[in-house]
Amino acid sequence: MSNVIKGNCLCGSIKLAGHGAPLIDVCHCGQCRRWHGGPALGIKFDGGIEIVAGEENLRWYDSSAWAQRGFCGTCGSTLFYRLRDAPEDLYAQAGSFHLPKGLAIHEHIFVDEQPDYYDFKGEAERLTGAELMARFEAEQAGHSND
Ligand SMILES: [Zn+2]
Ligand SMILES: [Zn+2]
Repeated sequence: MSNVIKGNCLCGSIKLAGHGAPLIDVCHCGQCRRWHGGPALGIKFDGGIEIVAGEENLRWYDSSAWAQRGFCGTCGSTLFYRLRDAPEDLYAQAGSFHLPKGLAIHEHIFVDEQPDYYDFKGEAERLTGAELMARFEAEQAGHSND
């Protein structure tokens, strides 16, 4: 039986299920901080994220030419990030899920945009925006060689 971790927005109308192993990244970019009111503790699951209930309450905001951010139209909880080119790949927020204890942060991204007034403990890898984009481009190049 595969592992399922449940999640929900603040009002409970949108219910989520994360399938498989969770992976938590922290994004320090200015856009995430404005959207969430602080750094984004993003989460993905190796088996994907399912919207179990309340999809009719979900609203999408076009936050850039390439991405959308999803939130609950009733309680305003910030829930999702997705690329327009891959709308089925949902990135969610760690705080939305009932996670077990003992999880660690996988990595930090856009650390060059991180303000001085907070920090995280731990030795997780820290990538600047440029380093992240370079990795993304290398992955794209890899795919085009398939
Ligand atoms: Zn809600
Ligand atoms: Zn961000």
